[in-house]
Amino acid sequence: MSRNLQTKKEINEIIAILDKTYPEAKCRLNYTSPLELVVALILAAQCTDDMVNKVVPILFKKYSNAESLANADLSDIQKIVKSCGFYLTKGKNIKLTATSIVQNYNNNIPDRIEELTTLYGIGRKSSNIILQECFNKVVGIAVDTHVSRTSKRIGFTKSTIPLKQEQELIKKVDIKYFNKLNHILVFHGRAICIARSPKCSICPIQDRCKKVGI
Ligand code: SF4
Repeated sequence: MSRNLQTKKEINEIIAILDKTYPEAKCRLNYTSPLELVVALILAAQCTDDMVNKVVPILFKKYSNAESLANADLSDIQKIVKSCGFYLTKGKNIKLTATSIVQNYNNNIPDRIEELTTLYGIGRKSSNIILQECFNKVVGIAVDTHVSRTSKRIGFTKSTIPLKQEQELIKKVDIKYFNKLNHILVFHGRAICIARSPKCSICPIQDRCKKVGI
């Protein structure tokens, strides 16, 4: 075992400390249906949750289901989602995903990761979140930029590649944390283990963290 890697026992003890530190950790994207969450996740790339939470209700007020989004004028979708950034691609992905949901899944959001990852703008991270949030299915761990960075720093994973990090985490993390780990590390990554300037002196796991790359 590399001296920069935590043992399975240490990892789960650290997660327990962070779980207690962030009892409010949960998905910060608002949604009232699985389709809204899918669209919110497409828009969330390189965008704040607050901005996505403002735009999604506006989009769904005009286009309330997959069929209407599939039939919408692409330029109108792009105009509505413009403030989320990368609006040309995101608008196109929303329309293509809605079309796929109508044509391939009978207007329902699929509940298998192999199917979800075929939707435009939806990768493995977002698929894990959709499965956990909408179907109560836990098949993996959603690794986003915060999970990736903090996992490497703390010594949870050797790799920096999200897919490999997920595989490493799945082997070591207690299954009861699969669902919450993303939210816990997102909260920690935003509050204390910040990308450019981690606040190690006030971190609740400072004595246990390997501080890789710090
Ligand atoms: S001790 Fe520093 S590097 Fe480690 S988790 Fe805390 S803030 Fe991040």
